[in-house]
Amino acid sequence: MGNSEPAPVLTPIPAESLSVEIQPLHQPDLKKLASVLENGLKQTFEEASVSVQTCPDLTQAPFNLAAPGLCGQAKILDVGGCPYLFPLAQREKFYDIKDFPKLVQAAEDKPQLMIGAGAAPWTFLSRNAEMMTNILIDPQGQVLKQNTKIARTFDDNNEYEVINLPETEHKMSILSNLLMSEGRPGPVLAIKCKKRIGPDNFVTALRKVLVENYPKDSIGLGGTFVVQTGKVKVHIMPELSSCPLTTDAQVENWLKFFEINAPFTCLSVLVSNDPGLDLRVEHSHGFNDRGDGGHYHYDTTPDETEYLAYYSVAQHVCRIDRPVESHQIGRD
Ligand SMILES: [Zn+2]
Repeated sequence: MGNSEPAPVLTPIPAESLSVEIQPLHQPDLKKLASVLENGLKQTFEEASVSVQTCPDLTQAPFNLAAPGLCGQAKILDVGGCPYLFPLAQREKFYDIKDFPKLVQAAEDKPQLMIGAGAAPWTFLSRNAEMMTNILIDPQGQVLKQNTKIARTFDDNNEYEVINLPETEHKMSILSNLLMSEGRPGPVLAIKCKKRIGPDNFVTALRKVLVENYPKDSIGLGGTFVVQTGKVKVHIMPELSSCPLTTDAQVENWLKFFEINAPFTCLSVLVSNDPGLDLRVEHSHGFNDRGDGGHYHYDTTPDETEYLAYYSVAQHVCRIDRPVESHQIGRD
């Protein structure tokens, strides 16, 4: 956008005009799933252990979630998508996160925690940015706890900044991949991995184990992991491109990449097999208390790397405002 153009006035798309598709996900026995994951992860990590545990209080560092747990009617939400970002961004794809619980038929008497990865509300900085969504909303649509952060770049140098969103800002642009739950403690998968020996990143490794062992099922996991040691490669989206981006190479050239020191805490969503909803099958954004943030790609220090993760198994996947015309550009 040229500097002379005024910022467009944007209002969120009214909830009643958003399409919503809800499908059940396969929920294997948790103990069996833990043992399948533990065996499978040993192809990617020298040490891997997966158990079923009551998650610790995830409001504490380094997780800092807006509610203590990941349980209670857990759902994967896939909102919008890359076809609204490329080849040219559609700024009118603007959503109010407070609409989502009702849209996906969440319990009307329980607060809902939403965590995950998406694009920041463009209006907040009059600029595109990454969003680490982390918000607890009560059934009346009031924000009970706002821990969402956004990461933005600067155009004239190679720096970035992470900003805490205020309670009054609860919108998002273009795309988001979220775990919604009642934020209660309960049984989750606790995963520890150390020393990466395979080519895949942590989340892809998890997803591939599920695809291999449950080839006909869609299993959805959402939660949080911390890269405890080593370094992580991330990207931060700069301002929306004024030139059409039509290939993965052009998208890569547009994105700004950074290498960040651990610890790095990610909010993470994955679905093993897309049940025909044009999903982004994995997406994780992270932050730490030193002012870093962005989209997780992989650790760059496989020998030193250690992961600790807590994931909830989702009951449903909910596709909101699925693009009619789709493509596969920029989903990495
Ligand atoms: Zn991302």
